[in-house]
Amino acid sequence: MRRLFLPGELSDTVTLTGSDAHHVGYTLRARRGDRFIVVGAERQTAAMEITAFTKDTVMLRRVANLDADTEPPIELGLAICLLKGDKLDFAVQKAVELGAAFIQPLRSENCVVRYDAKKAAVREEKWRRVAAEAAKQCGRTLVPRVEPVCALAAWLKELPADSAVFMAYEKERAASLRSWLQKETSRSFVALIGPEGGFTPAEAEAARTVGVHSVTLGPRILRAETAALAALAAVMYEKGDWGTE
Ligand code: SAM
Repeated sequence: MRRLFLPGELSDTVTLTGSDAHHVGYTLRARRGDRFIVVGAERQTAAMEITAFTKDTVMLRRVANLDADTEPPIELGLAICLLKGDKLDFAVQKAVELGAAFIQPLRSENCVVRYDAKKAAVREEKWRRVAAEAAKQCGRTLVPRVEPVCALAAWLKELPADSAVFMAYEKERAASLRSWLQKETSRSFVALIGPEGGFTPAEAEAARTVGVHSVTLGPRILRAETAALAALAAVMYEKGDWGTE
């Protein structure tokens, strides 16, 4: 069943308007009687059936409540420096599949791409669409946030207080992500990933100074988008919901 996210709470009947109604009525060419999994703002989930259409709206009624929260038991964020082309689209899509709660795009010294405010806003909207599509496709019960692009230095000054933040640093030789994760008791993690050009030594030092833990992902240099997926997957493996036995 296709998945729809509602901005508000679920109720017995729901009326879709605007782009949601257009998506269901025109893009998906849905018919009366078609069923969707509908997810409300509080992550409540229900099977709902289309009962009627108007030109601009689609009406649905609840058929059954579903016990289908798919969110991981930890909060995991991806803070990633801007990448060339559509590589960040890829990283956003995969981060959503892996259970990330938010993606924070960052500008850093060695970023090859430079966006002005207008271009950044266009890209942010694109990443939000990518995140929403990925959340539907993989069965999330929330659409992860894509934060506005921010300078790495500014972001480091405002780190979420209760989060354990680690930086995959290509020049780190020994510190292992696994041993840090095994000791770390926080339920909230952020993975910081550099751009194609890597972090400058000053950026790495600034991150360490504010408590970011620097780790290696092994002796091979990974592409930034590979490093992002590897780091998120490692956290999910150690702390997430990849099985209970
Ligand atoms: N230009 C850099 C160099 O030649 O050393 C490589 C940068 S790498 C393509 C992009 C980002 O991926 C890095 O800043 C880091 O966050 C992450 N990364 C890639 N390989 C890594 C590794 N072996 N250990 C830790 N982080 C890695």
